[in-house]
Amino acid sequence: MYGQEMIKRWLELKQEIDNTALGCGRNPEDIRLVAVSKLHSAEAVSELAQAGQVDFGENYVQEALDKKNQVHQTGLIWHFIGHIQTNKAKFLPSNFDLIHTLDRSKLARTLDQKAKEQTLVQPVLIQVNLAEEKQKGGISEKDLFDLAQEIINLENLKLEGLMCMPPFFQEAERSRPYFVRLRENKKELQQKLGLNLPHLSMGMTGDYIQAIEEGATLLRIGSRVFGPRE
Ligand SMILES: *Cc1c(COP(=O)(O)O)cnc(C)c1O
Repeated sequence: MYGQEMIKRWLELKQEIDNTALGCGRNPEDIRLVAVSKLHSAEAVSELAQAGQVDFGENYVQEALDKKNQVHQTGLIWHFIGHIQTNKAKFLPSNFDLIHTLDRSKLARTLDQKAKEQTLVQPVLIQVNLAEEKQKGGISEKDLFDLAQEIINLENLKLEGLMCMPPFFQEAERSRPYFVRLRENKKELQQKLGLNLPHLSMGMTGDYIQAIEEGATLLRIGSRVFGPRE
């Protein structure tokens, strides 16, 4: 399941990402592939890391911590991309280089406090729930500015951009308007807050082409690299 087949899929994917970037006038170096390894083994992560993949994304705190303990390569960058339960927040600072799914004020304060205790500054993205889907995390667009304002006033959090996960569509083109909206939300926030937010985390296996074309800097891709999940 992993092995050569996985490496082949990964190499092809990276080539497609580069080609898409060049095709729309973007520098491929401005786009990072986050390999989403949830529900895949530490062994698969190690193999991919051995081949040169640096960024990995995980959704579940306990699974991620166990896996990190079993993966021995150094220099890997770990992203937390799952829903964050308040009682699990304390495990995130010091274990994840970037948290993509900060979506509420209480959680921001908890993460800030934990980061402070670890004497570190935690980079975060705000997850925006553009379609206001009840089953999904993310703050609604109308509350985005207030949350961003609150985060930038917290000393031990560093706001680096926005993340979204559009509704699921068979047809990838239908994700595009959401990616455009996230980009516009970021632009507006940068103007209002007077600071630069480098990242747009958007695009998965089904719609990463559209995401690149609309400005993604972090692609979160799982099945295309690791194969189907259980
Ligand atoms: C699982 C997951 C992904 C990756 O999904 P694929 O379709 O397997 O590429 C990306 N982002 C989030 C938030 C996820 O939960």
